[in-house]
Amino acid sequence: MKGGKKIVCFLFLLFGMGFNLPFFCEEDIYTKLREKMVRHQLLSRDITDEMVLEVMRDVPRHLFVDKRYWNQAYEDYPLPIDEGQTISQPYIVALMTQHLALKKGEKVLEIGTGSGYQAAILSCITENVYSVEIREKLAKKAAETLKKLNFNQVKVKWKDGYFGWEEYAPFDAIIVTCAANHVPPPLISQLKEGGRLIIPLGSTLYFQTLTLITKKEGKLNVKHILGVRFVPMVGKAEEKRGK
Ligand code: SAH
Repeated sequence: MKGGKKIVCFLFLLFGMGFNLPFFCEEDIYTKLREKMVRHQLLSRDITDEMVLEVMRDVPRHLFVDKRYWNQAYEDYPLPIDEGQTISQPYIVALMTQHLALKKGEKVLEIGTGSGYQAAILSCITENVYSVEIREKLAKKAAETLKKLNFNQVKVKWKDGYFGWEEYAPFDAIIVTCAANHVPPPLISQLKEGGRLIIPLGSTLYFQTLTLITKKEGKLNVKHILGVRFVPMVGKAEEKRGK
């Protein structure tokens, strides 16, 4: 930051958080907060994938949440979005992305678009991102946010993600960002040979285990990663729970 800009930013900080900061100050402040988040929450844990670290440094997470949460956007916890849903803690977003081991050009499906933040992260690694959201309001808002921020590669659809997105299947990777007590069978069949699927599996009311499933020679390899807490998958998954 140039000297003059630094002084202006400093004065704005000094004279109160009640004012809106000029755009160039905001940009500098959030860039620094992201850098700090990467150092303290990702590098200090087990995020080692250079590409994941780079995109976590680049994508403006604060612009995916309500303005009143901007000052918390880079903290080590989830944040509320509309309709009682949440955007995952930055570490969990990075961890899930790292386990997907995405390569440029691969096709990835996300179930649970929410704010669109995770989809934006994925779209910096590969241009083929498909994301499904069951809540109409969230699907519309996320599509708008992604467009406004120039993440034009992401395709968002309002529908029950239990059934995947047949039209674009098969996928190299599938990421489910809501909790289910079983893996929806359509997601397994829409996963390519050699494909990776990550999902929080377990009790949808309490805790789940982040689970990585890899399809090899038609068989499923299952690896348990970490205890997590996600909002439940609703729709068909819920109906099946009731039975
Ligand atoms: N990945 C999001 C956060 C996801 S929160 C982000 O980066 O912001 C979980 C989301 O899953 C919620 O938006 C919820 O509405 C959605 N969801 C729940 N059940 C679903 C289903 N059956 N199909 C698609 N989306 C679902």
